[in-house]
Amino acid sequence: MKKDYNRTDFLKMLANAGIRSSVQRLAILEYVFMCESHPAAEEIYSALVRSNPMLSRTTVFNNLRLLSEKGILNDMDISSESTRYDSTDTPPHAHFMCRKCRRIFDIPLAMPVMSAPHGFHCDNVNVFFKGVCPQCMEKSDVDKKK
Ligand SMILES: [Zn+2]
Ligand SMILES: [Zn+2]
Repeated sequence: MKKDYNRTDFLKMLANAGIRSSVQRLAILEYVFMCESHPAAEEIYSALVRSNPMLSRTTVFNNLRLLSEKGILNDMDISSESTRYDSTDTPPHAHFMCRKCRRIFDIPLAMPVMSAPHGFHCDNVNVFFKGVCPQCMEKSDVDKKK
């Protein structure tokens, strides 16, 4: 579901949301939008700090919160361990989290199935499935046969 993004796309998103652009914000957006795995904040921080040693964890966490509040990122409290992040520039989709490998898969949705009641302003809808992914199912079948 991901497409190619360049710096101009990210600058436009920040401008539309009324947020000033910064090297850190661009790096965070680039990482989350290019990453298929719905990364957690800690994972984003560890990936970015490698090429940017001055980056602080607080900066990353604060920016993730801001970008989510402004609707550029989707913050998903799908797991009790950590919030996972996704881009919002995708067709509506649900998520399936595998309890064994902790990966999150995109599941296509025909249309947004729900809408908030009249008078509520909603900026985030999440549909979650949890269970075991095909690869982990296969692995546990093999283990059972051993
Ligand atoms: Zn799995
Ligand atoms: Zn997703």
